[in-house]
Amino acid sequence: MGVSFEIGPIRPPSEGGHASLLLRITRNCPWSRCHFCYGTLYGRHKFELRSLDEVKADIDTVKYLADTIRQISWQLGRGGRVDRETGAAIIRSRPELREDQCFVVVFNWLYSGGRTVFLQDADSLVMKTPQMVDTVAYLRVAFPEIERITTYARAKTLYRKSLDDLKSLRAVGLSRLHVGLETGDEELLGLVEKGVTVEEHIAAGRKVKEAGFELSEYFMPDLGGRARWEQHARGTAHLVNAVGPDYLRSRPFVPRSGTPLYDEYRAGRFQLSTAHERLAELQLLVGELNVSTRLCFDHFANSWRDKDGGFLFRQDYEGYKLPEEKPLLLNLIEQGLAADESQHLQPVQMVGLDRM
Ligand code: SF4
Repeated sequence: MGVSFEIGPIRPPSEGGHASLLLRITRNCPWSRCHFCYGTLYGRHKFELRSLDEVKADIDTVKYLADTIRQISWQLGRGGRVDRETGAAIIRSRPELREDQCFVVVFNWLYSGGRTVFLQDADSLVMKTPQMVDTVAYLRVAFPEIERITTYARAKTLYRKSLDDLKSLRAVGLSRLHVGLETGDEELLGLVEKGVTVEEHIAAGRKVKEAGFELSEYFMPDLGGRARWEQHARGTAHLVNAVGPDYLRSRPFVPRSGTPLYDEYRAGRFQLSTAHERLAELQLLVGELNVSTRLCFDHFANSWRDKDGGFLFRQDYEGYKLPEEKPLLLNLIEQGLAADESQHLQPVQMVGLDRM
């Protein structure tokens, strides 16, 4: 098929597994200062807005690929269905497409139902609102069957957007925002240079909800290390209770080489908690949550084990429904604490890992 569109490096796991079309509307991160991240997720590449023409051309390319794949399905007598047989037939006649990332992404997306799209990269809403509205509208015209369009957004960017801007984005079909909360502790937010205060984050989260979005927030167990675990847990619970995100996703801290926090760790100025200590932090956080949300452990760094060596927590994208499943969750945490420390994968064993 010989055509291509741009795909960025990162997407949330819940948008992975081939389920979502990945469409890059900006490049890299406009902030690039968070001490646990800087230089890793997007390398040290500078942030760029992509032009509307460029992004529309990419949507046209996706449409061309999707139409071509469906056309081949019709020619094969498969009624436009995109299934294994269609894929096998295409690869038999064009083996080189197996290595064609754009073809593979579009094929897998259609194969998974073609219903969800994730707009890349780190902070899409820095794009001017009319341009983003135009982008989403163009996408929906090209693919009317799309049911969910999501993207990453920084809390500070959302704080700066007006409610009307957010409502217009919601009205055109952007439906879920993924936001890095990391911690609700003011001191820690400052130390890791998250670039947003607790008050701003709460205001941003409430505005997002008021505009009608699904809000998916990511917090980072052990971001405060041994020194600040308690204020980290209490502050995060307070912030989550104040916002009420639809999803709260656990992304335990892993010091990754190249980041300022990794250097702090190596220099002995940052003490990682043990697996049990992380569970105790989680226990405090969960105990203090009094809001309706879904707490998810959909990432490999949630590595606590149960007595049989399996994962302590389910790793699915819908997680545990709170408050209904809070007793279950607290019970699981108790079980994890009762298990021998050596049974868990220790955070220190994950140091330097690049896969996050
Ligand atoms: S805003 Fe996100 S992508 Fe950017 S540096 Fe912070 S954590 Fe990394």
